[in-house]
Amino acid sequence: MTTFVCNACGTQFPASDEPPGACPICEDARQYIPHAEGQVWLGWEALRKDRKADIRDDHGILGVGCTPPIGIGQRALLVKSSAGNVLWDCTTFLNDEIAERVSSEGGLAAIAISHPHFYSAMVEWAHTFGCPVYLHADDRKWVMRPDPSLRFWAGETNDLGGGLTLIRCGGHFDGSQVLHWADRRALLSGDSVQVIADRRYVSFMYSYPNMIPLPASRVRRIAGALAPFAFDTIYGAWWDAFVAADGSNVVRRSADRYVRAIADPGLPS
Ligand SMILES: [Zn+2]
Ligand SMILES: [Zn+2]
Repeated sequence: MTTFVCNACGTQFPASDEPPGACPICEDARQYIPHAEGQVWLGWEALRKDRKADIRDDHGILGVGCTPPIGIGQRALLVKSSAGNVLWDCTTFLNDEIAERVSSEGGLAAIAISHPHFYSAMVEWAHTFGCPVYLHADDRKWVMRPDPSLRFWAGETNDLGGGLTLIRCGGHFDGSQVLHWADRRALLSGDSVQVIADRRYVSFMYSYPNMIPLPASRVRRIAGALAPFAFDTIYGAWWDAFVAADGSNVVRRSADRYVRAIADPGLPS
């Protein structure tokens, strides 16, 4: 028995003798089955042996990932608030070095994850640190490894205390959520609000690998959900995916540009 992991998306499945028949996350239009190697499954123990912890500062927040990366390659962020530590987003790698480091930082009061692409090995993390995982109820069907530690919340915002608020912005997934950290005036956005090459803007997509845009109504809804919250910095899903200033305006003007781009025949300036 092992808990198999999908190599392409990093999702961990329940313990079994044989690999799962398919990965619904990768078969969805937002992901893909790799065209060269097909569906590949990794055993949890083998995956841990082949990688090293990658723990370092990422623009003022402690980041946790691994090398070589697994799945979609995101890193998680350790948010240290007055209400305790919250792990924002999650990864498919957790070894003794990471467990000891996170424990030395005060452990975890909670985990919160932006959307199903980063559910990864969340149950492994929740069991190690004895904490709940906050997911939006609208993405419940994408949970591949059910567990009592998973807490599904409904609605538009969820106050975690310590100046931390989960905001459902939808778009990429119906339950796509971001984390607002008021004390730092920071938005932790996963890939629901995507930090892009030009750091004066962000973007929004239904599928990033398959380049499927969102309709204008969904982009406006994302901007509307974030409008009541003031933030300067935006932390995306990967190392150094960082907007350094003017975050609220960056989201506002990016949503306007996006809607113009998909509504007009002309190219954006
Ligand atoms: Zn997958
Ligand atoms: Zn995604």
